[in-house]
Amino acid sequence: MSSLRPIEKIIAPPPIHWVGDGFKVHNFLPGDGSLGLQRMSPFFLMDYNAKTFFTPSASPRGVGVHPHRGFETVTIAYQGKVAHHDSAGYHGVIGQGDVQWMTAASGILHKEYHEKEWSKIGGWFQMVQLWVNLPAKHKMSTPKYQPILNEQMGKHELDDQKSYVEVIAGKYKSAIGPASTFTPIEMYNAKLKAGGEAFFNFPKNFNTAFLIIEGKVEINGTSATTDQLVLFSNEDGDIHLKAIDNAAVLMLSGEPIDEPIFPYGPFLMNTKQEVIEAYNDYENGKFGHLED
Ligand code: MN
Repeated sequence: MSSLRPIEKIIAPPPIHWVGDGFKVHNFLPGDGSLGLQRMSPFFLMDYNAKTFFTPSASPRGVGVHPHRGFETVTIAYQGKVAHHDSAGYHGVIGQGDVQWMTAASGILHKEYHEKEWSKIGGWFQMVQLWVNLPAKHKMSTPKYQPILNEQMGKHELDDQKSYVEVIAGKYKSAIGPASTFTPIEMYNAKLKAGGEAFFNFPKNFNTAFLIIEGKVEINGTSATTDQLVLFSNEDGDIHLKAIDNAAVLMLSGEPIDEPIFPYGPFLMNTKQEVIEAYNDYENGKFGHLED
């Protein structure tokens, strides 16, 4: 029997703050900075909108036009619907189970709102947005957009034949994730029925954390519950995940990008000078145009 990868910390959801008027988030990463800004590199930011009920609204809630440069935004929808528009001309709606992987890279303007028809009816809303850093050599790549529908994700059925692991990026046993990434990333949703269980193993240098989206689980025998983030030590070992009741778990593991970073506002660059350039380029219209 191989050893188990130790849990470094179980993090309770930090106090909420609003992003625009549509996203009520717990900012787990970088959070208050106490973990270190690069502790989960290549994942720089994690905003988690825990399950929230939105009342009907004729005008969709969300966040208006804003720029990004130097990284990717990955939005994972568990409940509710979000519409996206950007200055590269991409437009998409993501609904329950879908993922949107937007590479801002050299610069993009975008806006993110609750989808119009969904907004009129309202309902339960639960999403994660990640900012995935890009290595210096790709920070000024051409922007791109990957809409990843749930049915495109590889799914590995577990032994109970009711639970499964869906793969957004990377590979779990026979299941392959459709997302193309710039650095090695494993990103899965484990969707487990009570009693469902699985083992995982990631290289020890890959920064690894699980966000409990729903239910109660045991990880290497330790309990974790809805809305907690479980951060693993960078040591060898398997991870044993077992559902106590029906559960969903977002699993993130990635090879760290070993470069200095300079994050500021909507930009994530390597140096202060590059952030100043980003602001200049933004003010000079080099990020394109997008109607509010
Ligand atoms: Mn954004």
